[in-house]
Amino acid sequence: MSVKTITAEELKEQEIYARKVRSVTHTYFEKPVAYVHTYGCQQNVSDGEKIKGMLEKMGYGFTDEIEKAALILFNTCAVRENAVDRVFGNVGALKRLKKKNPDIVIAICGCMVQQEETARKIKNTFPFVDIIFGTHVLHKFPELLCRHLFEGGRILEIPDCDGVIAENISVKRESDFKASVPIMYGCNNFCTYCVVPLVRGRERSRNAEDIISEVRELVDNGYKDILLLGQNVNSYGKGTEVDFPELLSRLDRLEGEFKIEFMTSHPRDCTERLIDVIADSEKICHHLHLPVQCGSDRILKLMNRHYDKAHYLGLVDYARKRIPGLNLTTDIIVGFPGETREDFDQTLELMRNVCFDSAFTFIYSPRLGTKAAEMEDPVSAEEKGKWFRELLEVQGECGSKSYQKYVGRTVKVLCDGKGRTSEEYFTGKSRENIIVDFNGAEKDIGTFVNVRITEAKAWALIGEKV
Ligand code: SAH
Ligand code: SF4
Repeated sequence: MSVKTITAEELKEQEIYARKVRSVTHTYFEKPVAYVHTYGCQQNVSDGEKIKGMLEKMGYGFTDEIEKAALILFNTCAVRENAVDRVFGNVGALKRLKKKNPDIVIAICGCMVQQEETARKIKNTFPFVDIIFGTHVLHKFPELLCRHLFEGGRILEIPDCDGVIAENISVKRESDFKASVPIMYGCNNFCTYCVVPLVRGRERSRNAEDIISEVRELVDNGYKDILLLGQNVNSYGKGTEVDFPELLSRLDRLEGEFKIEFMTSHPRDCTERLIDVIADSEKICHHLHLPVQCGSDRILKLMNRHYDKAHYLGLVDYARKRIPGLNLTTDIIVGFPGETREDFDQTLELMRNVCFDSAFTFIYSPRLGTKAAEMEDPVSAEEKGKWFRELLEVQGECGSKSYQKYVGRTVKVLCDGKGRTSEEYFTGKSRENIIVDFNGAEKDIGTFVNVRITEAKAWALIGEKV
């Protein structure tokens, strides 16, 4: 598939639209404010920052109080049914606001909208929604808003186009020292349960030079925590001179005091070379989020995951050997169509064997257009709920045990604010990406601090500054 990079001319066109919107927003007595709510994963959060960047250029300020907003935007997630239901509920509640003030602009974008059926449903169910646009036209938001403000009417923009990379969209970052940097978009894996490839399109990697110069600029501007994003970062630049391990080592060599995180890794594409790069690096987090999804080879095959349990366990062994103190986390789906009690027992066994530091666990949710949604699914929701609770119990035991290994060690923590432990405590994340609460001070926020760990809780480590 050919990748289309949005040209400088196309972006210039968007700037003209942005200026036109600005000419209207600036006639307000007070600067209009926007309420932007993002649902779902880090990729969506990153898109949300671009949306806010574009809105800022169009003259908008921001508010957390939806009642005060002149523009309300929901950036949606489609990965599971409950995320979709939440959006439908929250959009429905906007009717009252629009009735009170018909001038409010209501926009919906993101993964949910990229599915034609859902977009039409939103359009038909909620006639008060003004702008609906898909993930591939994010960069065209100024044009869509401009058209709505100047010409009126409703706008539905969900082109089937794919493979778009838009560089240089302005970004309004939520933090002064943490930044996420998408390195690739889309996914080619087609795990049979997953809607992501259908709403985010085919896999496409950004140019390494663009990524490296973005990270260099962020570090020069004081950013200390760089999160590299992609649905399957391990297949970044596959077959080219700069693949993912190479990209990581080039970023690791950049000057400055900062740390590099990345997500998500796919066990099929996670190599020993990648683990070696992490182990030998100075700045890459000792955290591997490696979703296994299930412990049964039969179900892994039905999920189209392209690895088996033995391959996964081999990777875990190698990673734990090469990176002592590694924080290993995973995702698990319970109740995939056709999963039996025997299959599920294998997941429990794998959980006990590996003893993950933490795990995100989900009950399977059928998604429109995916292969799994067509499969026989005889196990009742009640039974799946029971399995799910068993899984949580097993993970709970592992999670609280695993943090014990950090007690007595000194870890480097990037402080990011007030802690939960007590009024005097501050919080941050270690190089293993684990939350650490410690006796810090206001001036520590945004800096690295050495902390000796004195206690392990289920959700965090507690320590004293050294
Ligand atoms: N690209 C990432 C993230 C995908 S979505 C990855 O491959 O890991 C994040 C997690 O949501 C997945 O790892 C999976 O565990 C879960 N998930 C995805 N689709 C799901 C579905 N239909 N039902 C339940 N969980 C799902
Ligand atoms: Fe979905 Fe699988 Fe792609 Fe992850 S790798 S986004 S789970 S299809």
